[in-house]
Amino acid sequence: MTDQTLTRDLFNDVMVPNYNPQTIIPVRGKGSRVWDQQGNEFIDFAGGIAVNALGHCHPRLVAALKDQADKLWHLSNVYTNEPALALAKKLTELTFADKVFFANSGGEANEAAFKLARKYAYDNVGPEKNEIISFTQSFHGRTLFTVSVGGQQKYREGFEPVPGGITHCPYNDIAALEAAISDKTCAVVMEPVQGEGGIICGDPAFIKRARELCDQYNALLVFDEVQSGMGRTGELYAYMGYGIEPDILSTAKALGGGFPIGAMLTTDKVAPSLGFGTHGSTYGGNPLACAVANEVVDIINDPQVLADVLRKRQLFDDGLNAINEKHQVFTELRGKGLLVGAALKPEWHGKAAKFLAAAREHKTMILVAGPNVIRMAPSLVIPDEDIKEGLAGLEKGIADVVAAGPDA
Ligand SMILES: *Cc1c(COP(=O)(O)O)cnc(C)c1O
Repeated sequence: MTDQTLTRDLFNDVMVPNYNPQTIIPVRGKGSRVWDQQGNEFIDFAGGIAVNALGHCHPRLVAALKDQADKLWHLSNVYTNEPALALAKKLTELTFADKVFFANSGGEANEAAFKLARKYAYDNVGPEKNEIISFTQSFHGRTLFTVSVGGQQKYREGFEPVPGGITHCPYNDIAALEAAISDKTCAVVMEPVQGEGGIICGDPAFIKRARELCDQYNALLVFDEVQSGMGRTGELYAYMGYGIEPDILSTAKALGGGFPIGAMLTTDKVAPSLGFGTHGSTYGGNPLACAVANEVVDIINDPQVLADVLRKRQLFDDGLNAINEKHQVFTELRGKGLLVGAALKPEWHGKAAKFLAAAREHKTMILVAGPNVIRMAPSLVIPDEDIKEGLAGLEKGIADVVAAGPDA
């Protein structure tokens, strides 16, 4: 059934060592359950890092993919196609945006967003208006431009020289942003909820002030909603919960439910700066990806599904608080909707990966967000029973780590 000659050891032989995957090799998934080569069953609280927003092999997504697979796979952007047009129409109807550019990943959607922000300032003011302000701890992808805008030095180290004209301010610090922004600023870039940086919610006053400052200095407000978007926070996009609108928004991860796709959304005012020939992607807007994403949006953009995200979050909070009463490992629970962060107490700092491995031993898949925060980003439609079962596995994992002690 599965090919047992394909082992975790083989990874070290044939793959570049930029990842260090867990010891098990999953071979099958259904809903929020995953099975490995040996047939062990896991509850999936990781959701492919906030990607599998409808779980594994959702029947409607499988049907959409199979249906499109028999029709048309790829054309390039020399032609447009029906799934891409339908998806762009849908995204513009549901959001602030009037125009869409399709890419294949979050990093590529951001690359397009940052290039557009520069180009818009260049076209409308001049080349001196090129500075991008972003925030410490932020994560925007792994291309050279996106690691440069990203606020984590470790992802830039050794890859210098990196693009210039980028200033990093502390997140949620209004005074620092006021001091940094100027007429030379072309864009302020932020995740409304920081994901990789530790699941930190944007303060509403900070986000509102960022919008005001961008208007005052004729800069664009760019929201990276690659992780926070597509229902994750209980809103279709997190910006909708803040009462402001960005000028550019990047979306990926959950948009494809596991099929690679990214998109950059913007307004009629800004879009013309990405004129004919200025930017492109061979696969962007691929019919297979867009067919699946159309179905994802149709399923998630349902008031019942979105309301249920918040109800399920309460189940996580209740369960995690009960675990913490027993084991005293978290300082706080953070994040919005089903982007759940549990910050570890100082004695467990640097040990988040230990909790991940221990939970996996007890058949619950979780994530980390940096070395000090446990992260969960499960399917938005995870059954309540699976939440309960997964939390039980997580608790056993935590009990093991605690029993071994911080120095183990
Ligand atoms: C994951 C992520 C990205 C990068 O997306 P890729 O698809 O890995 O390129 C960018 N921004 C945020 C906020 C993310 O969480």
